[in-house]
Order: sequence, then C-alpha cells, then structure tokens
Amino acid sequence: MSEKEIKRIKCPKCGALHDFEIWIRINTDLDPVLGKKVKSGELFRTTCPSCGQKIDVVYPCLYHEMENKVMIYYAPGAKAMKDAAAAFDEGSEEAVRERGFDPAQKGYRNRVVGSLYDLQEKIAIFDAGLDDRVVEICKVMIGSELQQSQPEAAFDDLLFYKDSTGGRLALMRNGNAFASVSLSDDIYTAVGNHYKPLIDRFGDEKVIDMDWVMNSVNKAGE
Ligand SMILES: [Zn+2]
Repeated sequence: MSEKEIKRIKCPKCGALHDFEIWIRINTDLDPVLGKKVKSGELFRTTCPSCGQKIDVVYPCLYHEMENKVMIYYAPGAKAMKDAAAAFDEGSEEAVRERGFDPAQKGYRNRVVGSLYDLQEKIAIFDAGLDDRVVEICKVMIGSELQQSQPEAAFDDLLFYKDSTGGRLALMRNGNAFASVSLSDDIYTAVGNHYKPLIDRFGDEKVIDMDWVMNSVNKAGE
C-alpha cells in the first residue's frame, strides 16, 4: 500500500504557500504511476502556483517493488540514513505494523540511500538486473582509472544508467552529468567474479556505495 501526507510548501522565491502531496511509502506494483514519478523525479518536485518557481522537496520515502523484492529507504541526511538502516535491521512485529514492511522477508534487497540521485541510480541498477555491489566496485575501479588517464575530467561522483548501448557511468560534477563512459557486460562479469569473496563477506549492508567498497577493501586487507 502507498501512503501520502499533505505538506505545506513555502516558495523560497516569493513566499507563497501551497499544499503538496508527499508520498512517505510507495508500492510500485500497486501504484505503478508512482514508480514512474520517482524515476522522473516528479514526486519530489513542485511548482509555486504564484510565481512558477520550481521547488525541490526533500523528504523521506520508502520505495517498495513487491514482485522484484526490492525495498529502498530514501532517507535524506546522515542521521536519517542511520535510523533507516536500524529500522531495516529491527524486525519486531510492532516495527512491521508501524512501518508496513517486514525487514526479515527472505530474498529482499534492502537498501538505504541519502539522495534522490542515489535512489534513482539504485532503481536503474536493479531494473537492469544487476548487483549494485558489483556496480559500486566497478565505479571505484573505473573512477580511479579515469583520474589517472584524464585528470582534467574532474568529477565528484559516478552514476550508473542504462541506454540503448548498455550500461554506462555518468561523470557528475555538482549534481550535473557532463560526460559518460561505458560499463561493459564483460567488465561487470569479470569484476563480479573476482570480488565475489569480498561481497560474500561484507555485502550484507544496507548502505552500498563507493565508501562501502573502500571500507570493505580496507577491512579485507587487515
Ligand atoms: Zn513563488
């Protein structure tokens, strides 16, 4: 079941108030339209009715694909991310009733992300049938190669997406993509095979990002 609340939004430009529906829980099997609006970002954006200013609305949202057994908690901010990870770990009946999900359900991929970009990227990775842990390791490897071969291409993040040519990594700077490189099936498969022991050992985390890769590699080397 999806669940919404009404939030009053104040326009940062003209100060006008308007009501906006925020979806604190989304079930994409029951409400596929909401899933599409997450991918487009529409669910987290509104327009001021007085002056036309576009406003990003940041709020926590539990994204649930029942059939694919994917549950992603979008929890903006470091503390919210920590709480969300704890909520997944806590499997009490009360938590299940209150939060509407059972974190212990078998075969589920439970993830916590802190930004809309990261939420959209996770969905793109799972839509492509890939393992996000392998993709994050590929990002670290390809990212460090890029830093050496093209030091002028100063990027602060890499984001996975898929187009007609296959998997790609967008080079991001200040939230904008300015170039991209291929993430081929061959590289993905080779990295997945090579790092399987690392994933088996450290892969049961809720926050899977490039920091997870670095921390796991460091722990494995200790
Ligand atoms: Zn306004």
